[in-house]
Amino acid sequence: MFKKVLIANRGEIAVRVIRALRDMEIEAIAVYSEQDQSSMHVALADWAVKLPGKSLAETYLSVERIIEAAKCSGAEAIHPGYGFLSENPQLALQARKNGIRFIGPSAEAIGKLGDKITAKKLADQAGVPTVPGSAGAIADLDTLRSEVKRIGLPVMLKAAAGGGGRGIRVVQSESDLSDSFAQCQREAQSYFSDNRVFVEKFITNPRHIEVQIICDDHGNGVHLFERDCSVQRRNQKLIEEAPSAYLTPEGREKLGALALKLAKTAGYSGAGTVEFIGASPDELYFMEMNARIQVEHPVTEMVTGVDLVREQIRVAAGDTLSFKQENIKLRGHAIEARINAEDPETFAPAVGLVTHWQAPQGPFLRMDSHVYPGYRVPADYDSLLGKLIAWGENRPEAIARLRRGLGELLVSGVKTTARFSDAVVNHPRFRAAEISTAFFAEEEQTLKDASRLKDVSPEVASCIQTFPGV
Ligand code: ADP
Ligand code: ADP
Ligand code: MG
Repeated sequence: MFKKVLIANRGEIAVRVIRALRDMEIEAIAVYSEQDQSSMHVALADWAVKLPGKSLAETYLSVERIIEAAKCSGAEAIHPGYGFLSENPQLALQARKNGIRFIGPSAEAIGKLGDKITAKKLADQAGVPTVPGSAGAIADLDTLRSEVKRIGLPVMLKAAAGGGGRGIRVVQSESDLSDSFAQCQREAQSYFSDNRVFVEKFITNPRHIEVQIICDDHGNGVHLFERDCSVQRRNQKLIEEAPSAYLTPEGREKLGALALKLAKTAGYSGAGTVEFIGASPDELYFMEMNARIQVEHPVTEMVTGVDLVREQIRVAAGDTLSFKQENIKLRGHAIEARINAEDPETFAPAVGLVTHWQAPQGPFLRMDSHVYPGYRVPADYDSLLGKLIAWGENRPEAIARLRRGLGELLVSGVKTTARFSDAVVNHPRFRAAEISTAFFAEEEQTLKDASRLKDVSPEVASCIQTFPGV
């Protein structure tokens, strides 16, 4: 096993990886930018290497500097976390060239899967159903028009290199095609430096169901069931849970087998997620594969008892998977709420000093976060402050427990989405598991109204104030 591992990331995921390393008695080496000097991942690591500069290109997105940091600190492996360089084949390639293990799949597998167009081709080859759409990138408007004629409106335009819910556009009418195509190409170019866009059928009111898989270098692959991430705002996940009420036990097995078929075809090694979009429970199409650990991986850890990050590290070191398919059992239900530093009215990012932070505690709750009282949320990175995950014997128990946790989370200084998440899981449609990716847009106002602090009448307020002990 490795003695020293470098974490090429920041925030809650860097802290999560450090925890796995500590549990395995491996030394953790952090890297950090100027803004992250007093970040928790720096404090928790055994060693920390400063990446000079403030920009992403000089720091967390610099393959050269990350490799340099690994070499000078004597790290034998690099864990990329999610986002940043996690799906950049260059980091995996340069690590290999420098004799450092990359904790993830090969550069070749990342290259094929990181591109949504080649990933769909691989899925076709593997016999995994894909969303009907163009076979490749759309060259011009005429091609787009004829593709749309074939597929039928509404359609979705997508950046081939897209991620994080960006570079995606729904087109409802023929007259919007031209503008949307140009905008999508521009967005793809500016976010991902790659203007290739493809088109696929827009599935109305679908479910987002994804399968967690893990493979080793000895031909073994196991799926760890699904997560339902249908509660999304603008194609970004807000609430994730496992198992999904959408799948029957047979449907679950079938989807798991399909995900593993794709992994096998791609020559995949490490942990990964195969994302499907469900038009109906019997009609699930492959959307994309994320060749990395995902934000919502704790949901799966809670219902299977597997430490996915530890297992990632083990297989990267050349070990065989520590379990077989038949050892993986689904137990109970888990739900995660992403806690974002955002104004719950506008969802605009909130930055500034966290003056008070008290994380929830107690049975069957898990909080993964890098925030502490006195932490300053920088404007430079994404707004995720952490994740709260609740486990229960069944779905209603998990909902109640998540609500308890959200209520116990006390934050001052920055606005968060915690109360909004409470309104989501308390909504009758969520409780009945009657949701789709359109749920947020359809219920936005109801959810905002429910998430506002209730006004307390003066009589009640004075009674509370005089009540002993309160
Ligand atoms: P997950 O797929 O794990 O649920 P998200 O899609 O929310 O996670 O992405 C996780 C993080 O990675 C976010 O910070 C997101 O902005 C970032 N990210 C994901 N894919 C890309 C990409 N292709 N390019 C840049 N950032 C990305
Ligand atoms: P990203 O890399 O940004 O995660 P995805 O391809 O996974 O991109 O799409 C993000 C989200 O957009 C999905 O979770 C889903 O809600 C929605 N989406 C993607 N493709 C479709 C589609 N063909 N029809 C309907 N919704 C879709
Ligand atoms: Mg996705």
